Amino acid sequence: MSERVRELISERELQARIREMGQQISRDYAGADLVMLGVLKGCFLFMADLCRHIDLPLCCDFVGLSSYGDRTSSSGVVRITADLTRPLEGKDVLIVEDIVDTGLTMQYLLGKLQDRVPRSIKLCSLLYKPARCVVPCKIDYLGFTVDDVFVIGYGLDFEGRYRNQRYIGVLDPDGD
Ligand code: 5GP
Repeated sequence: MSERVRELISERELQARIREMGQQISRDYAGADLVMLGVLKGCFLFMADLCRHIDLPLCCDFVGLSSYGDRTSSSGVVRITADLTRPLEGKDVLIVEDIVDTGLTMQYLLGKLQDRVPRSIKLCSLLYKPARCVVPCKIDYLGFTVDDVFVIGYGLDFEGRYRNQRYIGVLDPDGD
């Protein structure tokens, strides 16, 4: 419990960018049958703030995916920990993700969602770490690009902690 946290993206920067993203999504999805599909657990604060800046009728659903366990690098093995609750057939699905790192999680999810024949699928991610990309994936709405560091806060955890932190920080596990 002695890690040191350095602020990387402030609460103010997060909220300003998320407002812009919500406004853009509102314009792009006017008249669509929008389902925001949040990837648990990391999306929960981002999704809650983003959907309140989208001025459209929409549904929210969630899928639980896990690829990290309690480590700070991806295991590469994706597991479904909770399935969605409603059919996606004919819907305009917007995946809401906390961070795209290797891209393996998104590759897996996009493959699974195609089977449910939505009308469209796009990806919205708060963060992207290009240095770690293994499988390129198109991010239609991106909040911020980050360097190759392990980030925590605003939904993102380290061993289950820090999700409630209001800003994105960098963890230094050797700090005290
Ligand atoms: P990918 O499959 O793209 O490698 O990883 C996606 C998932 O790994 C994210 O949804 C997130 O849960 C986790 N992840 C990737 N990078 C980080 C990071 O820097 N910090 C935290 N807390 N989780 C990360």
